[in-house]
Amino acid sequence: MSQQQIHMNIELKPEDRRICGKCGGTAFVPACALYDVSAIVSPTGRSDVVAIPGYACVVCGTQVDLTPKEEKPNILVALDGGQA
Ligand SMILES: [Zn+2]
Repeated sequence: MSQQQIHMNIELKPEDRRICGKCGGTAFVPACALYDVSAIVSPTGRSDVVAIPGYACVVCGTQVDLTPKEEKPNILVALDGGQA
């Protein structure tokens, strides 16, 4: 199944649109969370920084919890959709 086909088959409902829990903003930008990893737990044996990709509110910068509201395996596709 191609990603193009997934886009075409998803119905994006206004009530399902994510809203920032802090300011009510509805636009988000890609943002990484950075974690320091100590040498003790690092698989490389050296201290490192790990970047976890995510999204942040474009207005207030609050990071979005990407846990689906229900079981919505296509939530990332919905966020990626260009029908704003
Ligand atoms: Zn916000």
